[in-house]
Amino acid sequence: MQGGGDMTKNQRGARVVIIGAGMVGATSAYALMIRGLAAEIVLIDVNLRRARGEAMDLAHGQPFATPTRIWAGDYDDCRYADIIVITAGVAQKPGQTRLDLTRKNVDIMHDIVKDILKAQADQAILLIVANPVDVLSYAAWKFSGWPAERVIGLGTLLDTARFRQLLAEHCGIDSRNVHAYIIGEHGDSEVPVWSLANVAGARLDDFCVVCGRGCSLETKTAIFERVKNAAYEIIDAKGATYYAIGLGTMRLIEAILHDQHSILSVSTLIQNRFGIDDVYLSLPCVVARSGVTRVLDMPLSADEVAALQVSASVLKEAIASMGLLG
Ligand code: NAD
Repeated sequence: MQGGGDMTKNQRGARVVIIGAGMVGATSAYALMIRGLAAEIVLIDVNLRRARGEAMDLAHGQPFATPTRIWAGDYDDCRYADIIVITAGVAQKPGQTRLDLTRKNVDIMHDIVKDILKAQADQAILLIVANPVDVLSYAAWKFSGWPAERVIGLGTLLDTARFRQLLAEHCGIDSRNVHAYIIGEHGDSEVPVWSLANVAGARLDDFCVVCGRGCSLETKTAIFERVKNAAYEIIDAKGATYYAIGLGTMRLIEAILHDQHSILSVSTLIQNRFGIDDVYLSLPCVVARSGVTRVLDMPLSADEVAALQVSASVLKEAIASMGLLG
């Protein structure tokens, strides 16, 4: 179904524009449609044929899901967008690090943001998914000139989900009862916050005593290695990762559109925290209708702060090498 016409924004309901109708973009749209979060979903891709095919396939599922107007559109459709998700870019190839993708995807981001600004999408919130997500989020913030509150990277949202799921699997409990964060870069220098990990309000080490399954240093190291290397493993096995990130994108959109003030580990502009300044990286943030409203000052251990600072310097170097600082 084609969208909008002359309807006002309120009549229309929430519009989510997804730029990049590849595996991640289409899966995010699928998750959004099932949850019924958006009245309108627009898919934009340089490969218009692909965007049209995905839009048709998704639209045909509506009788089984939630009524949603879905179409393959263009940048003019960004004008009434509440949220614009950017997944467009070159995907990670087997053996390639996220930072290898940087130059190509920064150039793509530059062109996309230019087109979004032309469409006067002045009220939208930008969600950056494409990798390297922290560098591209910083680039999108710089290119757009928008407040950092409204330019959010998916950051370690997915890594945090993987961490919770693997810990839950080890303990034999529901992952929703595990609270543990991965912070820093979405990538090789990311940091697990073991010191604040908890289950049902109990510190992980205390829970371990009642759980009885045992959590040695080796077990913890192995769990974190599996989190950190998950993307490489999945890409080796099937070429791309998209289900979990599609759900993560949906969850972030839900927190925004429903003004939930949810605490999510997303990539945001860090200014003068933990000795880190002027870089996008993930810390637990409060996410609401206006975007990232607060970055939480977590009482991290000294080792975690040191590791976070290393992660920040990796990212800062990447940002500087793209000529984005200043
Ligand atoms: P994909 O190749 O399936 O899709 C990318 C799409 O972008 C393609 O359809 C392509 O035609 C389109 N595209 C390229 N340049 C464009 C442009 N200038 N304008 C509009 N569309 C353009 O890749 P994918 O598997 O969907 O992955 C997309 C991105 O998401 C990658 O950068 C990947 O690394 C990243 N990713 C991030 C996370 C995360 O946690 N942040 C997780 C998984 C994937």
